[in-house]
Amino acid sequence: MTESVTRFDLPQSAIPTRWYNIQADLPRPLPPVLHPGTHQPIGPADLAPLFPMELIKQEVSRERFIEIPEEVREIYKLWRPTPLLRARRLEKALGTTARIYYKYEGGSPSGSHKLNTAVPQAFYNKQEGVQGLTTETGAGQWGTAISQACNFFGLECFVWMVRVSYDQKPHRRSMIQSFGATVNASPSNLTNCGRAILEKDPNNTGSLGMAISEAVEAAATSGGKYKYALGSVLNHVLMHQTIIGQESMLQLKRAGDYPDIVIGCTGGGSNFAGIALPFVRDKLAHDKDIRILAVEPAACPSLTRGVYAYDFGDVAGMTPLIKMHTLGAAFIPPPVHAGGLRYHGMASIISELYDQKIIEAHAVRQLEAFTAARVFLRSEGIVPAPEASHAIAQVIREATKATEAGTSPVILFNLCGHGHFDMSAYDAFNNGSLADYEYPAEAIEAAMAALPKVD
Ligand SMILES: *Cc1c(COP(=O)(O)O)cnc(C)c1O
Repeated sequence: MTESVTRFDLPQSAIPTRWYNIQADLPRPLPPVLHPGTHQPIGPADLAPLFPMELIKQEVSRERFIEIPEEVREIYKLWRPTPLLRARRLEKALGTTARIYYKYEGGSPSGSHKLNTAVPQAFYNKQEGVQGLTTETGAGQWGTAISQACNFFGLECFVWMVRVSYDQKPHRRSMIQSFGATVNASPSNLTNCGRAILEKDPNNTGSLGMAISEAVEAAATSGGKYKYALGSVLNHVLMHQTIIGQESMLQLKRAGDYPDIVIGCTGGGSNFAGIALPFVRDKLAHDKDIRILAVEPAACPSLTRGVYAYDFGDVAGMTPLIKMHTLGAAFIPPPVHAGGLRYHGMASIISELYDQKIIEAHAVRQLEAFTAARVFLRSEGIVPAPEASHAIAQVIREATKATEAGTSPVILFNLCGHGHFDMSAYDAFNNGSLADYEYPAEAIEAAMAALPKVD
């Protein structure tokens, strides 16, 4: 009977009531986060100017489950539980013996998984009397999600948008503005670090690391009126996303399957963590034999070619030092790269799991990613976000290997967003002007040489 089922839906009562915190199950605790000046481990007081206390607690908590507030679950009901689909038409198009499932997060109001964490972040800030949030956005998905969440809770919202996206993605900008947020192109002349960058280079097109510096400075100098929100990388952000994997587990059970391979694309690590961490728990605590694969662009290969070292989260060195897989905060992604996932570092949790060989990492070039996206959209009918296309490319690699070996693994991947705002990248692919780019070894070495020296 399950033969004919394509879509596995859950009732709203199945929206998870708790987030899963992998810090309870890691084989060794995460390396401490260090103060940028003293290089000593930081405490809650150091983070208080930037984040509400509840999120600071979640950041360092070792409790296995954390209750999701009722107010947050009420808003989750707007789009959750999200569907799990068996990609039968993709399987047929590939002629594969593998069984492929995808969890679709692109049906959220923001079009990606990012609203899963934007809502609780806005909620806790509101609860602690904060007046508004500052943040950065690259491609615009996070800016969209946080502007929506701020709107739900009556918070002001200030978004520093990387200049090149601000100019090239006007529709993401208008969407953010429609929800009442203020959008500034970064670097801007509204902050000290923005002005310093513009003074040296008035035509600087910005980077995620610069926009983070500006948003952090704006919050830190607001006297507590505004706090800062980050859409990826941090432990609490990854934890909020674990509802994706928890739902997937229930849905796969309904399908009568369990994954052999779990795949997600990685920029800062949040959507990958969302689908993967509940299965990492099964692997660690219940000895399940699962391969868990993080997929990154060859143009920004922080896991496969970066080092595991202490680094800043931003360009100006305003954030605490986090031990992570990094290409160096000085890394500037190549402009020809259209596939998103442009952050220089990787979440501490993902870096640690990779370092301990609990997960694998793979890099995909953009032509392979867009080719995979085309196979997917023509079979399943959804235009994937270019980021998610990296995961799809890896799914196709694994499915092809399985077919050649005559095996039938169950492959689960996260389709973390749609690509409706990325059609200019699809245009470039369709008209043949998109080129492959691999980050050159010398450039990686140069960025690494600028890593902070930490004993
Ligand atoms: C932001 C985003 C990413 C990259 O961020 P992660 O934290 O690695 O998930 C990937 N895909 C989509 C659709 C995004 O919006």
